[in-house]
Amino acid sequence: MREEMICNGCGRKLKRSNNSDILLEDVFMAEKAWGYFSKKDMTRHRFILCEECYDKLIAGFAVPPDEEEVTEL
Ligand SMILES: [Zn+2]
Repeated sequence: MREEMICNGCGRKLKRSNNSDILLEDVFMAEKAWGYFSKKDMTRHRFILCEECYDKLIAGFAVPPDEEEVTEL
């Protein structure tokens, strides 16, 4: 069964083509397994943000993300 992909920031269902699992928009994906020195002790966190929510997130950063041009993905 195909799993819905939902933006964790705004709860919006992400656009997919009808007959395949290809996403029609680019998203930010994060995954982190927290270790012993965290307060989250051995839990894995995973989330997706649409581009709009990603922009809102980084707007709150004190130091912006490193940015460079890529020629292929
Ligand atoms: Zn969003």
